[in-house]
Amino acid sequence: MNRYEVIVIGGGPAGLTAGLYASRAGLKTLLFERGIFGGQIVNARQVDNYPGFPEGISGLDLASLMHRQATKYGLETITAEVTDIKRGHTYNVITTEGNFEAEAMIIAAGSEYRKLGVPGEEKLLSRGVSYCATCDAFFFRDLDVAVVGGGDTAITDALELSEHASKVYIIHRRDQLRAGQVLQQLALAHPKLKPIWDTVVDEITGESKVSGLRLRNVKTGAITDLQVAGVFVAVGFEPNGQRFASIVGLDETGLIKTNESMATSAPGIFAVGDIRKNSARQVASAVGDGATAALSAFKYLREKS
Ligand code: NAP
Repeated sequence: MNRYEVIVIGGGPAGLTAGLYASRAGLKTLLFERGIFGGQIVNARQVDNYPGFPEGISGLDLASLMHRQATKYGLETITAEVTDIKRGHTYNVITTEGNFEAEAMIIAAGSEYRKLGVPGEEKLLSRGVSYCATCDAFFFRDLDVAVVGGGDTAITDALELSEHASKVYIIHRRDQLRAGQVLQQLALAHPKLKPIWDTVVDEITGESKVSGLRLRNVKTGAITDLQVAGVFVAVGFEPNGQRFASIVGLDETGLIKTNESMATSAPGIFAVGDIRKNSARQVASAVGDGATAALSAFKYLREKS
């Protein structure tokens, strides 16, 4: 019988932690992951800010340890994509590997960094192309780098990078930043930050690591080459929340709204990690979300029975 007390959707740090806590609490728990266990951290060459690893650890190793620990107490996992959830007496979870029934659910399906979609971006990922300044700024000490985007994330990233890099170019497709006024003022007055307006990236160049960017001015069409050792893409996020829109409340950007117990608008459905509104988008905060949600699910099931 495909019936579980808790079904977790997503096998990143938030989902694996939710699975660990739920199964260790004795709940019959199943986790679905459509790709690689570990989610976005598998792309991180080195994770230096996750407590317990003072020398740092590769994202892949951290993901593997998390998966091993999560499955130690009976958590079942299936590689499949959840395509729909239907609400009845319990939740009917429709997946590419069949239908399952859940009394409670924890949605940990994450969000994806929006990509530029230019040549070199995929090839040089983690070789100078990054989507996370908090994770990777440290590697660019005394080097010139670029941030692409003009929103709050781009400017926050640029300011963070200025602590390490020698110069930070901000490449923005318009001549006005989208970021809030305070961040804008800080950025425009900062001696290490140099905006390049009305410009898009056509190509990220380099063989084994990033060596530069081919830029195009959208007003004049002029093409220029800029030498940088790293490029931080900060052009927004695509939350994976839309597929759950019929069952839980989302904000206008597609993030799932939760309270401090990680509860969504649907009874017995919790959301954790990067898919929820106000996530700090860190591994440490994701595992905290996962633990909170599993404890909340346990309480929900106990009160229901
Ligand atoms: P965002 O506000 O959507 O900004 C994305 C930026 O990338 C915009 O400047 C946009 O240009 C640009 N862009 C989008 N697609 C592009 C493309 N294909 N090529 C080049 N540029 C592109 O995203 P965000 O900065 O990640 O922020 C997301 C949310 O989190 C926002 O609500 C933000 O306020 C919040 N946030 C807040 C803080 C904070 O400290 N308060 C920090 C981080 C994030 P246009 O401006 O031309 O559209």
